[in-house]
Amino acid sequence: MTGTGRTTITGLRGAFLSEGFFILGTVPLETITSVAEMKRWAKLHSAAGKSIGLVPTMGYLHEGHVSLMRRGRRENDLLAASIFVNPTQFGPSEDLSTYPRDLEADSLKCASVGVDALFMPEPGDVYGPGFQTYVDVLEVSEPLCGASRPGHFRGVATVVLKLINTVAPTNIYFGMKDFQQLQVINTMVRDLDVDVNVVPCPTVREADGLAMSSRNSYLSPDERRQAVCLHHALHEAKKLFDAGERSPERYLRVMADRITREPAAQPDYVSLVHPETLRSLEEVDDSALAALAVRVGRTRLIDNMVFHRNNPANKPV
Ligand code: AMP
Repeated sequence: MTGTGRTTITGLRGAFLSEGFFILGTVPLETITSVAEMKRWAKLHSAAGKSIGLVPTMGYLHEGHVSLMRRGRRENDLLAASIFVNPTQFGPSEDLSTYPRDLEADSLKCASVGVDALFMPEPGDVYGPGFQTYVDVLEVSEPLCGASRPGHFRGVATVVLKLINTVAPTNIYFGMKDFQQLQVINTMVRDLDVDVNVVPCPTVREADGLAMSSRNSYLSPDERRQAVCLHHALHEAKKLFDAGERSPERYLRVMADRITREPAAQPDYVSLVHPETLRSLEEVDDSALAALAVRVGRTRLIDNMVFHRNNPANKPV
């Protein structure tokens, strides 16, 4: 680490050529730990007319994060990723201090995907002395995770706006696994005229369907086996949607029944809402978002699925 909060590591990166050859080379990854230095990096490249992609994360990277980075790599001249376990989005009784971290493994993953700059600021640099300004996105922050984690989306929106102001990305990448987060950011960007393109990316799952999450590492082997109930419950809901079921209560009952069949699983919420407003549905019509938060043992997991009537694959649009 240099005194300027900037260092360069080298990672191996492989690529398939169209002829079927695989090439292996080294790529430099700059790690930047100061906000001022990150701004300098971004200004330098923006002034040269380069597009910059940004993938914000809290680290302990898995294939879900990596899928966002791969997309960002393809769609921009330069790619920045951030690792910041943001204190303002954790409640007092949540897992801020125990959140899993492995910066060495994360740096290697970033280098191998072709991230150009990895931004890992200190909390005291992001939230300097006298910090007192927050972004509150009102209605879409209220239901679902907003109801069980008061203040969470205020912390998320605030840190994301700060990251956008620091990196000035052309494109910013978010996973649909955190669907409400994505809608909070979309709303903030629209309402505050933020000059960035928000790119939603599909949820990456384990082989049995469990959505990848850094928090899956908290699960015991038995809890891990039971955790697939979130995915199964969403599939039960999809079956009802495909069969034309219109009563939200029916979806909620079927999903809750599937979850509570597992002894370690305790629903925090089971919801069926409009995919944009996130308001509860009185009747299921053209589209719906089934969203779940479930405690499996002591670990809180979330997952969701979007349904669209005129989209046979029910692919998110
Ligand atoms: P996190 O580190 O959990 O804050 O996540 C950073 C970004 O990665 C967010 O945009 C998440 O929605 C996204 N992400 C997390 N898990 C997945 C996944 N399984 N599939 C796709 N994106 C994900």
